[in-house]
Amino acid sequence: MKKINKNYINGEFMDMDGIEVMDIISPSTKETIGSVTLGSVKDVQVAVSAAKAALKTFSKTTVNERVEMLQRLHDVMMSKSDELIKATVEEYGAPVSIATNLMLVAAKAFLNTKEALEEFEFVRSIGRAKVTMVPLGVVGMITPWNADYYQICAKLAPAIATGCTAVIKPSELSAIQTQLLLECFHEAGIPKGVINVVNGRGEVVGTEITRNPDISMISFTGSTNVGKAIRRGAVDTMKRVTLEMGGKSPNIILEDADFRIAIPLALRIAFGNSGQACIAGTRLIIPENRLEEVKQIIKIVDQNIKVGKLWDKDSAIGAIVNERQYERVQRYIRAGIMEGAELVIGGEGSPQGLENGYYVKPTVFANVTMDMTIAKEEIFGPVLSILTYKTEEEAIEIANNTDYGLAAYISSTDLERANSVASQIEAGRVVINMTEDEPRAPFGGFKQSGIGRENGVFGMEEYVEPKTILGYK
Ligand code: NAD
Repeated sequence: MKKINKNYINGEFMDMDGIEVMDIISPSTKETIGSVTLGSVKDVQVAVSAAKAALKTFSKTTVNERVEMLQRLHDVMMSKSDELIKATVEEYGAPVSIATNLMLVAAKAFLNTKEALEEFEFVRSIGRAKVTMVPLGVVGMITPWNADYYQICAKLAPAIATGCTAVIKPSELSAIQTQLLLECFHEAGIPKGVINVVNGRGEVVGTEITRNPDISMISFTGSTNVGKAIRRGAVDTMKRVTLEMGGKSPNIILEDADFRIAIPLALRIAFGNSGQACIAGTRLIIPENRLEEVKQIIKIVDQNIKVGKLWDKDSAIGAIVNERQYERVQRYIRAGIMEGAELVIGGEGSPQGLENGYYVKPTVFANVTMDMTIAKEEIFGPVLSILTYKTEEEAIEIANNTDYGLAAYISSTDLERANSVASQIEAGRVVINMTEDEPRAPFGGFKQSGIGRENGVFGMEEYVEPKTILGYK
């Protein structure tokens, strides 16, 4: 049983003011595996004071010093990779392949940012002016549970790169993973007060971060509703806010695509991270006359999608993070059935033999129309909706018919055509014929998927304030 009952503030694991204790339940067994004490408003205030004090010296550190810190953070994480992966399997319910990938991309975020830092122009010349890019200050970071290490590292790395300090509120559902990550940060020897972490509820710890006048910026990843509340709450103190929020990403299969490749790829894009991915391609948009063929391919592929058995290397889908999210996914599956969509695979309940965990059957619906709930709302589980089109224009219209705009996918054998379609899609990232990421390229959403960008040089720009100096020579 892991007992997480300290904040990490000013380079130390400190006793907390908060007293509420929450059980940590393993989603793959429904057993209690630990507990986390939730922080109070006072805990946040102590963390903010430490971050504010550290800013004075940290903002003056050299690029070289910060390059070395980013390298050390990466190296320590890699040296503890087995423990970090194990925690994600146990606490989050991910299969080991996903847990490994989540750990690797998190550690890599430090290296990618290090590369961006090496090329970042902190002093620019524009006409008669010198423009210096000044660290914004104390950054509040609020993160979700679906990729705990990555979300924290992707926000912390640009803060360190730019000379900002951090107060982090991770998801209370990821406390064991966060604790291990903090031990890595501690070992990396980052100056005291640069990294401060308070576990706790969004309404308490998150709200205080949003309100606190000594915080200059909030970098948030999570649901659109909470993102909107943070943006509203940040107005009084004029904080900069970057929001990475939900998605209902389209995946257009053009009729010239090789369906034997494109449809299995579409299932991977929809079911990645057990469907708990903001970038999941959850609306599969296919030519109307190919529906039967697509259904057949999906049924065949489904026979080889392994759910559960988290330590098996070929297991593809794990458990849903907790009971609440599991029930939410089940409600969406019921809504799909009740609103008249056709079940191709999956359905309500857990796969046979996996009833002891929060496992969902990988589910695909056909005959989905744009007005159905499952076509509009983010489900955050392995549930895919198939919509059909008659013309390319209609495919693009369906793809863009959403409040979200985080990611989009296209399959085609004609790259010129795929690029033309990509140019008409309203999304922060369009991926053609693959799943691989480019972590140095900007990541973020159009429309209600967010504001601002993460990753690489674009991500660093969010953490600095340009200061123009005239008459400087
Ligand atoms: P959530 O919005 O409920 O919570 C995210 C974080 O915000 C948590 O740490 C939570 O405690 C905190 N929070 C909750 N209420 C708050 C409040 N009033 N003020 C301040 N903070 C508050 O999201 P979740 O359930 O943890 O994660 C799932 C959601 O995150 C999905 O909608 C998903 O699309 C989104 N997500 C987006 C991305 C992205 O990069 N765009 C990545 C991962 C997840």
